[in-house]
Amino acid sequence: MKKFIPWITAAAFLIFIIDWGIMGLKIFDNDYDITVEAVIGIVCFIVLLACSVYKIFSNKCPHCGKQILSEGEYCPHCGKKI
Ligand SMILES: [Zn+2]
Repeated sequence: MKKFIPWITAAAFLIFIIDWGIMGLKIFDNDYDITVEAVIGIVCFIVLLACSVYKIFSNKCPHCGKQILSEGEYCPHCGKKI
């Protein structure tokens, strides 16, 4: 599951950008029927949010098992190399 997270994040981000592009073009074209794009955008946003939350909570030290919030090379709790 863990190795799929970056792919899901990348896919959701890509869809999010394309979706905003389509929405922008529609508004530019005076077409304000953007319900579908809005729903896709919200879904992508939720997926991105869920992935980042999962990433934060799944980042644990292999030595002491405590949560690591920084991107450092060493664990702030036990001082061992990650
Ligand atoms: Zn540790």
